[in-house]
Amino acid sequence: MFNLDNLLRDNIKRLVPYSSARDEFKGEAMISLDANENSHGSPLSTNYNRYPDPMQWKIKYKLADIKGVPPQNIFLGNGSDEAIDILYRAFCRPGIDNVILCPPTYGMYEVSANINDVTIRKVSLTENFQLDLAALETAIDENTKMIFVCSPNNPTGNDLDREDIEALLNNFDGIVVIDEAYINFSRQRSFIQELTEYPNLVILQTLSKAWGLAALRVGMAFASEDIINVFNKVKPPYNINEASQQLTLEALENTTQVNEWIKDTVIERGNLIQQLAALPIVQKIYPTDANFFLVKVTDAKGIYNALAEKGIIVRDRSKVELCAGCLRITVGTKDENAALLAELKQYTPA
Ligand SMILES: *Cc1c(COP(=O)(O)O)cnc(C)c1O
Repeated sequence: MFNLDNLLRDNIKRLVPYSSARDEFKGEAMISLDANENSHGSPLSTNYNRYPDPMQWKIKYKLADIKGVPPQNIFLGNGSDEAIDILYRAFCRPGIDNVILCPPTYGMYEVSANINDVTIRKVSLTENFQLDLAALETAIDENTKMIFVCSPNNPTGNDLDREDIEALLNNFDGIVVIDEAYINFSRQRSFIQELTEYPNLVILQTLSKAWGLAALRVGMAFASEDIINVFNKVKPPYNINEASQQLTLEALENTTQVNEWIKDTVIERGNLIQQLAALPIVQKIYPTDANFFLVKVTDAKGIYNALAEKGIIVRDRSKVELCAGCLRITVGTKDENAALLAELKQYTPA
C-alpha cells in the first residue's frame, strides 16, 4: 500500500517551513515595510525591488487551463532539475535509501542522487529501449523510494510503452517519476490525466524544450496535492524569480506559436530522418517521438569532429550504454537541418 508518510524522511515530516514576508501578509499593501526591500525601486527601467510571489499562482492558474489540472497539483521549479533534487531530499535518506534508474537515460537523475548520497540501482532498458519489468521487480527492495522513467526518453527519443509504466504505478509502493520533458512532440498522451488514479505518480515537464524558454529556468511537477505540499515545504521560498515569472506568463499566452513550431519540428524531423537514412555513413536511425533522434553511424567520433569543425554541434552519445556508435541530433530549423545534411553528405573518413 502506498503511504506518503512512510516514504517521507522524518526530518521532512517534522520540518517547519520558512515563513516569508510574502507568506505572512497576502493583501494589497499601501506601504510595504516588511521585507527589507529597497522602497525606491531598482536601478533599471523595470522595477524588481519587491520579492516575487513564492507560490507563482498566476502562472499556475494559467498552466491549470492549458494542462487541465488544478493549480494545487502543480509545482514550479528552477528547471525540472530543481524538482528532481527536491524529490531526493524529501524522500531519500542519504546512505540508506535507493532509487532505480533505467539507462540509457537523462543524466541528472544520477548526478542528483550522487549529490544527495542516495544509492542508484540501474536496470537497463531492453534492446528496444523499453522497460525491463522483470528486472525492475527484482531490483526493488524495502528501501527503494523512487523509480525514474523518461518518456519520450532522452537520449533514445522513443516513448516507453504505456502499459509498462502503468504496471509500475500499480505495483510499486514508492514514487514513480515520469519525466515528460518531450511530451509535446510525442504521439503518446501525457500521464497528467492519470493523477487522480495514482497517489504515487509524479510527472515532470519543462518550459525548456517545446516552449523555447530554456534560459528562464522554469520546470513543472504535477502530483497529488499531498506531494505538491511536500515540494512547497522543501523548496527555497522564492525559487522562481520575478523576471522569469513575468516572461513565463507572457509566453503562456502564445500557445499558437508554440503549436506551430511543434508541428514544424515534427515535419522537419521526418524529412531529416528520411534524407539521413540514405547516407552510407548512417547505419540506423532509432524511432523517435521527441525533437531529437539517435542515429548510429560508421564513425561517431570522426563525424562529430568533422561537424564541430564546421560549427555544427551534435551530441556524441557513443560512450553511453546501448548507444555505441551513436550521435544524438536535435532537429533544428529547415536551414540548420539543410546545413547539417550538406556536411554529412560530403563527409569522408580521415
Ligand atoms: C532537457 C530535459 C529536462 C529539462 O530540464 P530543465 O531543468 O527543466 O531545463 C528534463 N528532463 C529531460 C529528460 C530533459 O532532456
